Amino acid sequence: MKVLVPVKRVVDYNVKVRVKSDGSGVDIANVKMSMNPFDEIAVEEAVRLREKGAVTEVIAVSCGVAQCQETLRTALAIGADRAILVQTDEELQPLAVAKLLKALVDKEQPGLVILGKQAIDDDANQTGQMLAALADLPQATFASKVELADGKVQVTREIDGGLETLSLSLPAVITTDLRLNEPRYVTLPNIMKAKKKTLDIVTPADLGVDAAPRLKTLKVSEPPKRGAGVKVPDVATLVAKLKNEAKVV
Ligand code: AMP
Repeated sequence: MKVLVPVKRVVDYNVKVRVKSDGSGVDIANVKMSMNPFDEIAVEEAVRLREKGAVTEVIAVSCGVAQCQETLRTALAIGADRAILVQTDEELQPLAVAKLLKALVDKEQPGLVILGKQAIDDDANQTGQMLAALADLPQATFASKVELADGKVQVTREIDGGLETLSLSLPAVITTDLRLNEPRYVTLPNIMKAKKKTLDIVTPADLGVDAAPRLKTLKVSEPPKRGAGVKVPDVATLVAKLKNEAKVV
């Protein structure tokens, strides 16, 4: 069984993002880019399933600019077997990515697609759900445990106030939550090995997909600056301020 793992190249989580002065978006020129953290968890999970013998091949796929090849090489160094770049310089929105992934699902026929629950750049949390709808596949989002057995996959999800366990028939779409696993460190020998693995490049047109944006960003702005705090002399003043000024008690 094959597993398809979509990985997105995003601004590294340690970078303090800056909004462009014209409000058209965030500045990503000369900024460190990395694999979306939830996607690292997805690659790790797929590789663990292969190491357990439940999966035969892990295919990483990224949609975007040529530099996404670096992200794919990281996925290959974690342990993916081969990679596909759907290359385009156009802006890709979740619906377009979902359509591209649907075309790859039709072509590769994976038993599972494991995505991140959300990309930390646009926080859309849409692609996995849209892919499941377009490909007409069962979905389990926000997975904190994944187990394959008897041609089904059991997924435990963290929900408000507890855990929910779902059983899905295969093929299926899963999105990862933070607690699913802790991705391994990428070692130098594995980085070297990854350089020799297959990385195919296709375009949206090759897959027959119109990836044009359907949404227009009107404005991006910084959150308002937080005001300075004040020191209060005693608890009584604090309570009075919470009551009369903040009106929270
Ligand atoms: P989003 O819906 O944008 O929050 O993204 C959810 C997940 O979809 C990500 O964690 C990735 O697994 C996948 N994804 C989104 N955009 C891309 C992309 N350009 N290339 C590959 N995978 C993507």
